Amino acid sequence: MQTNLSEQAKSLPRAEEAERILRSCVHCGFCTATCPTYQLLGDELDSPRGRIYLIKQVLEGQPVTAKTQAHLDRCLTCRNCETTCPSGVQYHNLLDIGRAVVEQQVPRPLGQRLLREGLRAVVPRPALFRALTSTAKAFRPLLPQTLQAKLPRHPHPAKPRPQLLHARRVLMLEGCVQPALSPNTNAAAARVLDRLGISVTAAREAGCCGAVDYHLNAQEKGLERARRNIDAWWPAIEAGAEAIVQTASGCGAFVRDYGHLLEDDPAYAEKAARVSTLARDLVEVLRDEPLERLGIHGDRRLAFHCPCTLQHAQKLGGAVEGVLERLGFSLTAVPDSHLCCGSAGTYSLTQPELSFQLRDNKLNALESGNPEVIVTANIGCQTHLDGAGRTPVRHWIELVEEALV
Ligand code: SF4
Ligand code: SF4
Repeated sequence: MQTNLSEQAKSLPRAEEAERILRSCVHCGFCTATCPTYQLLGDELDSPRGRIYLIKQVLEGQPVTAKTQAHLDRCLTCRNCETTCPSGVQYHNLLDIGRAVVEQQVPRPLGQRLLREGLRAVVPRPALFRALTSTAKAFRPLLPQTLQAKLPRHPHPAKPRPQLLHARRVLMLEGCVQPALSPNTNAAAARVLDRLGISVTAAREAGCCGAVDYHLNAQEKGLERARRNIDAWWPAIEAGAEAIVQTASGCGAFVRDYGHLLEDDPAYAEKAARVSTLARDLVEVLRDEPLERLGIHGDRRLAFHCPCTLQHAQKLGGAVEGVLERLGFSLTAVPDSHLCCGSAGTYSLTQPELSFQLRDNKLNALESGNPEVIVTANIGCQTHLDGAGRTPVRHWIELVEEALV
């Protein structure tokens, strides 16, 4: 696509990257076929091609309006379009650049500002989030439906974690909301890894991966959190940690991007690149291990919801299904498994209408094979789908851990 960036856009730190991405799009429109917002709304400007065109206009200096912002806000950042695109357009990077420019030019109404600031103030702080979640559970019937649906129905308490007995060590990103909403997930992962001869080292100073701030257009704050995590993990990396394991694919996708996002930071570029090469989703660690040593005979009927951040961002579609089948679980067929469930980080709170439509469509697809339980690999999807009060939704590693002999 021909582009002619404005002088202002040319001065952006990521101007060259934006121009390269814009030029890589040949406007073929294949991506529209798999875009969830285009499927629901049928508006070209709510498709990847339309949004790319809007960002091109913004960067070429044309007027930016609240309507432009609304079309960009409605994007789930699910990256389904990147999987479909035959030209390898790095849509999410262009979207990040475009959203930041629009954010500076279009002031948001007070209600939106308060919601976004509130989310940024609470979600990345695990202790505050846990305290608010406990209070909210006590007042559940008084809360608006969007918030009620975010509270876990029957969270499984965390089982004890194993002692650090093994020479093989990995780090684990504990996450910010997962410890409160699904407290047993990381414990179950540590217990299964222990049975495979791998210990999980704690890095207490590490915190939120930064994705919440970054995707709410507080990009510098998101990068600050990335730098803090790098500092927190570095001593264990130098001591030989094999991997930084994520049990939430949303966090994993962002940690994998640290290297790219910090490539122009002279103090952190090298370390960030190393962290990105060490970042592993839990399934990547498990699939390379001799799983028969676990002695598992999974006899439950499961439907797997593959999060967009696992299949489209980390390109690990089919990996969890493969591990669960090796362990004897039976998996039901899930139509349209490439489509987003509508969770998308904080999207279910900022765009509830579209989010709930996508959730209900996804649950219909997941339940079509009559599974006992739906399993997934990202806390956002887990909470969002479980909040409908239909088939229970859990992290897949909890089912594996429960089946340990
Ligand atoms: S993003 Fe890719 S699939 Fe979509 S219009 Fe551009 S080149 Fe075609
Ligand atoms: S990231 Fe998802 S919602 Fe956004 S344009 Fe691409 S396919 Fe559509």
